[in-house]
Amino acid sequence: MSVPELSVVIPVYNEELNLPLLFSRLYPVMDGLKRSYEVIFTNDGSVDTSINLLKSQYDLRPDVTRIIDFNANYGQHMAIMAAFERVRGSIIITLDADLQTPPEEIPQLLLLIDVGHDYVGGYRLNRQDSLFRTWASRIINGVRRATTSIEMTDQGCMLRAYKRPIIDAIVRSGANNTFIPALAYSFSGNPTEIGVRHEERHAGVSNYSLYKLIRLNFDLITGFSLVPLQLFTMVAMACSGCSFILVVVLALRRLIIGPEEGGTFTLLGILFFLISVTMVGIGLIGEYVGRTYQVVRTRQRYFVREVVERAE
Ligand code: UDP
Ligand code: MG
Repeated sequence: MSVPELSVVIPVYNEELNLPLLFSRLYPVMDGLKRSYEVIFTNDGSVDTSINLLKSQYDLRPDVTRIIDFNANYGQHMAIMAAFERVRGSIIITLDADLQTPPEEIPQLLLLIDVGHDYVGGYRLNRQDSLFRTWASRIINGVRRATTSIEMTDQGCMLRAYKRPIIDAIVRSGANNTFIPALAYSFSGNPTEIGVRHEERHAGVSNYSLYKLIRLNFDLITGFSLVPLQLFTMVAMACSGCSFILVVVLALRRLIIGPEEGGTFTLLGILFFLISVTMVGIGLIGEYVGRTYQVVRTRQRYFVREVVERAE
């Protein structure tokens, strides 16, 4: 395999129902570009027959197909990261395996790369997801805009193209819990965006449970900003200022008017409020400490069981 021009990176987690159609749509698109390419699939610990399907596709097209097989499920972004460490192309494209973002849009992205952008992000036109997902995305988009300096219309869209230096920077950064599009954006010099079609998931269900989604979005916010911590400190300062005034008022009242009869519940209310604020704060601090810990201990981020590819 000589050095290809394009690398397509696709994370795969339990996508046996989608892979056949993906192969039959992706490869013609790539062949039609008349540019040399490779497709790297990372099997992210699928428990279905995905890996067998990938291997038979490798047998069909060993010239342009490579497979990285994880021993367990490390998440979509780590799967992409493992592929980034091995890409050979000078333009890298990421794509989902479920055909929600159609491979037919790849040429559009390449046009923008060719005019000189080093980062082309897709955003999903007429998004075909549940109302809950769409709204959750909108909220997270707002939070991200307010707390980080990352400007993008749709952080959840994985159909994106990058020039090689950005990918090299991502690999060098050795990030642990990260949100690839945001990290790539922070390294790009000339980013742009383009609307891409969005289709309903071809088959199967989303691999994201509510829990995974929340964790991923924590990665996005805490990975790129300290604003939540600072906001918390400011609220805490305002709270302690107010409680100090309250204590003074209560003390004066005790001296001037005499002991209070009722008011216990008011105090309890205030107390509960302060306790809840403290709990949120401890949780937030925990998030950052946990992340610091993960970086500091420098444990291997994922374990590759097997790499299926032709030698260079
Ligand atoms: N994926 C993965 N590991 C995971 C979850 C998802 O590699 O733990 C892959 C999945 O196979 C798909 C892409 O990431 O190619 C997007 O996943 P999904 O369609 O479930 O996410 P959604 O479209 O609902 O955001
Ligand atoms: Mg999907």
